[in-house]
Amino acid sequence: MTAAIDPVDLAARLIACPSVTPARGDVFDVLEDALRPLGFAVHRFVTGEAPDGPVENLFASRGSGAPHFAFAGHLDVVPPGEGWASDPFVPDLRGGLLHGRGAVDMKSDIAAFVAACAGIEHGGTLSLIITGDEEGPATYGTPALMEWMAARGIRPDFVLIGEPTSEDRLGDIVKIGRRGSVNMWITVPGVQGHVAYPHRADNPVPKAAKVIDALEALHLDDGNESFQPSNLEITALESTSKATNVIPGAVIVQLNIRFNNLQRGADLVELVRRTAAEAAPGATVEAKISGEAFLTPPGPIYEIVSAAIAAETGHKPRLSTHGGTSDGRFLIALCPVVDFGLPNATMHKLDEAAAVEDVRALQRIYARVIEGALGG
Ligand SMILES: [Zn+2]
Repeated sequence: MTAAIDPVDLAARLIACPSVTPARGDVFDVLEDALRPLGFAVHRFVTGEAPDGPVENLFASRGSGAPHFAFAGHLDVVPPGEGWASDPFVPDLRGGLLHGRGAVDMKSDIAAFVAACAGIEHGGTLSLIITGDEEGPATYGTPALMEWMAARGIRPDFVLIGEPTSEDRLGDIVKIGRRGSVNMWITVPGVQGHVAYPHRADNPVPKAAKVIDALEALHLDDGNESFQPSNLEITALESTSKATNVIPGAVIVQLNIRFNNLQRGADLVELVRRTAAEAAPGATVEAKISGEAFLTPPGPIYEIVSAAIAAETGHKPRLSTHGGTSDGRFLIALCPVVDFGLPNATMHKLDEAAAVEDVRALQRIYARVIEGALGG
């Protein structure tokens, strides 16, 4: 047994280190200083170059052998934005809430887990996989950590990601998978010219409208028992000229598809490419697949996390695949992954805040998860 850690105090110290993505340096010092006295071996490395890096990553472990239970998370935060009631990087406790950028997503969740580790003895291996780039492109984040682990033969048996998944109250939602996401940019070509001489031009705007109509008419799927239907959204429309007397040379249609495990990103890109070219010959598509859909197959980690939540809150969580993507899209390649953490109502918003009571309850839930996974 080691001295107790106050999760709210540790969260406050992490918030006090501004760590807008990609993160490195003092926010990792604070975490390392908390972990070492608990008997964790802590490894840190910085990797990557601008614009996606450099990024700092941390792997910490305690104990040895199987089973290996890992907690995953990120110390980077999104930019605070303007208009906070208090300085986003000066933790502010008021009305039972800890305010600051990262209070919910996800410095308090990490602090709750570290505090849970302090009061516990366990078998097997307990580790933390912490990246400085989850909110950014993640190129040098969790994928780099996984390479680092693979090179050392480190492979957890299950991972709990401490992302803020709760919605109306702590423990109502556990994520057992996520939809995939792909962004695309369709260029509809035309010939630029004077609006008074349309016969010398070829207007791409009506063609872009046809492309949008064709895309809106697509029926991707009906979803399945684990996932809602895949959804395509047009997110922006841009032409190469804003002048009132010019027919533009091209229109770019930007879109995003959130897709379930009935689809694959590359197939959707091909579908959009075909649809666009049929509606507007010559249209081309650029695409970036952010992640494929994944679903953790039912197994012990479901039961361990559900039982821990039920024991603390009196309610079983709902297992969901809704919402944005997480680094589970990478970690699922290693083992079963679930996401569970604080209520997420204020994440990425102004005046992000975590309820002190929730942070303390989350520590107790995480402690039960560790006991369930590795024996008390
Ligand atoms: Zn997050």
